Amino acid sequence: MKRIGVLTSGGDSPGMNAAIRAVVRVSIYNGLKVSGIKRGYEGLLKGDIVDMDISSVGDIIHRGGTKLGTARCEEFKTDEGIDKAIEILRLFGIDGLVVIGGNGSLTGAKRLAEKGFPTIGIPGTIDNDLAYTDYSIGFDTAVNTVVNAISNLRDTSSSHGRVNIVEVMGRDCGDIALYAGLAGGAESIIVPEIESSYDEICRKLISGKNRGKLHSIIILAEGAGDAYGLQNHILSKIDIESRVSILGHLQRGGIPTALDRMLASRFGAKAVELLIEGKEGRTVGIKGNEIIDVDIYEALAMEKEINKDLYDLTGMLAI
Ligand code: ADP
Repeated sequence: MKRIGVLTSGGDSPGMNAAIRAVVRVSIYNGLKVSGIKRGYEGLLKGDIVDMDISSVGDIIHRGGTKLGTARCEEFKTDEGIDKAIEILRLFGIDGLVVIGGNGSLTGAKRLAEKGFPTIGIPGTIDNDLAYTDYSIGFDTAVNTVVNAISNLRDTSSSHGRVNIVEVMGRDCGDIALYAGLAGGAESIIVPEIESSYDEICRKLISGKNRGKLHSIIILAEGAGDAYGLQNHILSKIDIESRVSILGHLQRGGIPTALDRMLASRFGAKAVELLIEGKEGRTVGIKGNEIIDVDIYEALAMEKEINKDLYDLTGMLAI
């Protein structure tokens, strides 16, 4: 292993920069050279590849987004695309690749590994939808962004006695809704993994109103329904007006939290160590507070489950 390539792909997430920085610096510390591949697999197929030195990753640990840029690339999903990518990697003298991204990007990494190119995955997605790891880079920052938004909404909602429906990201995974709902003290949390009764939500709103509650926050995961549909249901059923806030891409940006920077730095270092040890086709993660590495095929085959204990706790805290 003489030269490592690094790329970020798919949806960006806060903390990706800290991971790039760790990959570059730990590689150089170990006497390796590093190539930065711009705009994910798209840039790889175009040979958009630059040398990275220590200072190329200076002043980025605290910035959201990704300095290397990211993209989605249909061509890379084909067998020819993967073969071409490997040819280009070899042409640039790259012996091992670190891919930072979500489910789709890690599937791409798996296919490179399948074809024999030494590849290691790092989970970078705010959705936290990868089953093999407790957390992925960017999730904690996104949760904090949502919690701050809830606090802001609480101020104005309690002044007006309003109900707020807050739609958050996560694709088919309810983790952002669950963690932010619990930390933000939401009255109801609606996630794709667990069926919710809109009538039960209405019942809670009425009983809250009857005991003089000034505001209510309902967190809806994007994969669990339609915020405006819920708003109409509440209005028609119990005649209570609500406001909808769809946080959208706000959740993708912002200064990465210390936790995400720590996670990203540890993941980046582990990925480089694995390549140096000659391991390939693995993806890094965290279980408890321990950094782990898992066979990438097995990791991606695992089914993500919602933390039922946390979900039940939110129910207990919002009686
Ligand atoms: P994320 O990595 O955030 O989940 P996507 O699902 O959009 O984002 O995937 C990002 C990119 O990863 C895709 O545009 C494509 O280039 C690559 N990718 C996704 N799925 C596959 C696949 N089955 N095989 C090869 N590459 C894939």
